Amino acid sequence: MENFITQCKKYNLRITPQRTAVYKALMEDKTHPTADAVYQNVKKDCPNISLDTVNRTLISFSEFGIIDTVMCSGQGKKYDPNSKPHHHLKCVKCGKISDFYHQKYDSLKVPSEVEEEFTVLNKKVVLTVVCKKCNKKG
Ligand SMILES: [Zn+2]
Ligand SMILES: [Zn+2]
Repeated sequence: MENFITQCKKYNLRITPQRTAVYKALMEDKTHPTADAVYQNVKKDCPNISLDTVNRTLISFSEFGIIDTVMCSGQGKKYDPNSKPHHHLKCVKCGKISDFYHQKYDSLKVPSEVEEEFTVLNKKVVLTVVCKKCNKKG
């Protein structure tokens, strides 16, 4: 929560109860939820909040780099509260995304032809996997 307050001050974002609730709900959810899933959680604390507000709040957080987004084919945008350098394991069957840490990946070298043309903001390695649960189902 401290991190959130520092970030809001840095970007001159007003700390409203709704923004705080959205952030809190996202931090408590490690599954990289969609806006709709965040909304379902926020609603428990703020019954009056609308999906639209949650959506807009999440978008502004991600624009300021307070949170990260993950694009998932077919499932829309998912939000990632983990601001530490980390990588993803994505299950092809259930679509679940989990975090993993690997220092060697953090320091992956960006090819010079990419660096010449683009400003690299973030490096994330995504491993496409079949998770334990789905493996069991066969
Ligand atoms: Zn799975
Ligand atoms: Zn993540």
